[in-house]
Amino acid sequence: MERLKILSQRYKRYLPYLIVILVVATVAATTFFSSLRHVPDPESIKYTEFMELVAAGQVHTVSINLAEPTFQFTDANETVYTSDNPKDLDFKRILLEQGVVVNELMTDTAREDLIANVFTLGRYALIFGVMFYILRSTGMMSLNKEKSAEKVIPATTFKDIAGNEEAKEDMEYLVKFLKDPRLYIELGAKLPKGVVFYGPPGTGKTFTARAMAGEAKVPFYSVSGSDFVEMYVGLGAKRVRGLFARARKSAPCIVFIDEIDAVGTRRGSDRNSEKDQTINALLNEMDGFTGSEGVLVIAATNRVESLDPALIRAGRFDKHIAINLPDVQDRMAILQIHSQNKKLSNDVNLEELSKLTIGFSGAGLETLLNESTILAVNDGRTEITKEDIDDAYYKVVMQGSKKKNRMGRTAEDVKLIAWHEAGHALVAKLITENDIPKVTIVPSTSGAGGATFNIPKKMGLHSKRELLNQVKMLYGGRVAEMLLLKDEDSVTTGARQDIRQATVQLKEIVNDFGMNEKFGMIHVSEICGSDSSAVLEEVTALSKKLHDETTALLTQNRETLEKIAQALIEKETLTEPELDQLVFPAVNQLGA
Ligand code: ADP
Ligand code: ZN
Repeated sequence: MERLKILSQRYKRYLPYLIVILVVATVAATTFFSSLRHVPDPESIKYTEFMELVAAGQVHTVSINLAEPTFQFTDANETVYTSDNPKDLDFKRILLEQGVVVNELMTDTAREDLIANVFTLGRYALIFGVMFYILRSTGMMSLNKEKSAEKVIPATTFKDIAGNEEAKEDMEYLVKFLKDPRLYIELGAKLPKGVVFYGPPGTGKTFTARAMAGEAKVPFYSVSGSDFVEMYVGLGAKRVRGLFARARKSAPCIVFIDEIDAVGTRRGSDRNSEKDQTINALLNEMDGFTGSEGVLVIAATNRVESLDPALIRAGRFDKHIAINLPDVQDRMAILQIHSQNKKLSNDVNLEELSKLTIGFSGAGLETLLNESTILAVNDGRTEITKEDIDDAYYKVVMQGSKKKNRMGRTAEDVKLIAWHEAGHALVAKLITENDIPKVTIVPSTSGAGGATFNIPKKMGLHSKRELLNQVKMLYGGRVAEMLLLKDEDSVTTGARQDIRQATVQLKEIVNDFGMNEKFGMIHVSEICGSDSSAVLEEVTALSKKLHDETTALLTQNRETLEKIAQALIEKETLTEPELDQLVFPAVNQLGA
């Protein structure tokens, strides 16, 4: 099999020529055979004349194929003529009543037709084959079974992954389940059917899923959502069923679907029956599981919000795990893992490099090291120098900046983002009850300018004060930028999401909640319709007031603000206790 593969690889480039020769030969052959069938045309007689001949008793034999446009007949002298086929079902009866011999010519022509059909079929098959080949070789169609699902137990394990700690911890029990499903099933435990890993590209979603299979020593089936989006309707759905049939047979196992958004985006905007069929097949398969088969489906996407709600409903992909870009510590660990088999010269300082690579994904860091290696090798060296890494860094960053996800930030950017995030965090700590699991300057998919600020939603009712303070917290980012820059014209676009969110909230306060002095208990758009100038006036006034109050609050606490920003620049991510330590040092000392 391996040999065959190699052979077919070697002769692959001759395949197009071979196909062209085959096509030409077939066309020539069919033309030749159809010329053989050709016999001199007999004289053609009008149908009315023919009927007169019949009436005169001069027609001897009629040979007719009911499907043909003409038929042949012979007179008493055996001379052959043709005439138009009336295609009348009574035709034969009339002729027989007149004593004419009638031959129904099915066989002869049918055989000729058969030969012709075989050639036509052959021709079509070849044309189809050529098209198929071209499509495949241009990558427009990927029917690569080996690629789409192979049964392998990966050698990757959790120790190959740096960071992604939350995911690893969360996945630990699933690994145990896959290792010994019976133990859990006996206790009545069920495997969650579907898990979604979401986060920026290159953060190790595939890698983590693969490592889970490696840890549990179970087969790993990997497909990509984009493989399912084929040109032929129904193929995607068929493949899904085939994939799950195989997975069931080798359970316990993991089925990994990369780029699930290729088939699983919200239906509606981009309706595509192929996608719908595929996704329905997927949902059907998942609904068919009881959870004790031992097939764990893991899907990866960059944005969980873009997925079809049907897909992430309870009992389907209902477990969502964020895989974020690595922070400075994790980047250090990733750099260490990927430089293990590389020779670095003494001037290379990985710790420094890990600080410089904020915004890099695991894959980005790997690329960075690989590019450096290539530069060293091209230069005839076996050791990677700092210069190689610097050159590779610029190469990778420049590539990244052309794409949407720009990697690498300047020191000024980092500082500004740190102040911005510190502003949010400090205001939140001082005047809101929000839990802040972490504050970070590491970009993520949910943060607009790239920085995350997690605010868990509070359930239930909100007081007016809470709503106003929420707005102040949103303003905290931009206000902190202002305090750092002391220059209105230097502020950045990083607050766009904040402003938007705050505006929605302000409008609700004024318009919906009866919390505005001027309007009182009135739902303004109920009266003014879409003319919102009155609301705009009130919202603007409230916004200005809250912005001033936020500025005053942060100015009073400027020292703390600076400390948080500084800590963020150093560590990139602060946990809530770390943040508390900075905001309420006295309280913490008392507690200690
Ligand atoms: P994703 O599926 O999130 O796009 P991948 O899993 O394909 O990312 O990651 C690509 C490669 O980047 C991996 O094969 C691995 O070599 C490297 N990589 C990514 N994240 C990490 C990590 N946390 N630790 C070690 N290597 C990583
Ligand atoms: Zn912000």
